[in-house]
Amino acid sequence: MLDEIKAKLKEKGFRLTPQRQAIISLVINPGPKLTAAEIWGLLRPKHPDMSLDTVYRNLTLLTELGVLIPIAGAGKDGTRYEPVTHSRHHHHIVCLKCGEAACIDTCPINPQFLATVQNQGYQLLRHNLELFGLCARCKPEDRCYV
Ligand SMILES: [Zn+2]
Ligand SMILES: [Zn+2]
Ligand SMILES: [Zn+2]
Repeated sequence: MLDEIKAKLKEKGFRLTPQRQAIISLVINPGPKLTAAEIWGLLRPKHPDMSLDTVYRNLTLLTELGVLIPIAGAGKDGTRYEPVTHSRHHHHIVCLKCGEAACIDTCPINPQFLATVQNQGYQLLRHNLELFGLCARCKPEDRCYV
C-alpha cells in the first residue's frame, strides 16, 4: 500500500517528506478511522513541529490522489478518513456521541435514481451518503420493565 502511494505521489510531483510518511503510515492502518485533530495528536510527540494545517493539507492531497475516503462526521472538523483498501463503493454510519464510523458494505441508491440525475444534464462523478446514530456502546441501556 505504501509503495503504491509513494508511486502516486511521485507521479504527481509530490515528495514523501517524513511528516507526510508519518501521516500516511497512520491513516492506512486498519482500525479506528481518525479525524485530522486525532492524527495530529497522535503524531505530535514524534513530530513536534507538525502543524494541524499540515495534517489537513496532506489529508486533502491523499483524498485527491484517491488514497483516502473522507467520511463526513458530526459537527465541525468531524470528518474521518479511511484508506481505500476495500475499494468497493459503500457507505457509513457515524455515532453522534463518540464519533466512531462504521462501514455499511452496501449502497441503497438505485440505478434509476442515478439515471434521473444524469437526465438533468449532469455528469455524475460520485455520491455520498452518511447515516447518523448511536453506536452499541453509546446507546442507552435497553431497559427491561418486566
Ligand atoms: Zn458511540
Ligand atoms: Zn468504509
Ligand atoms: Zn452509494
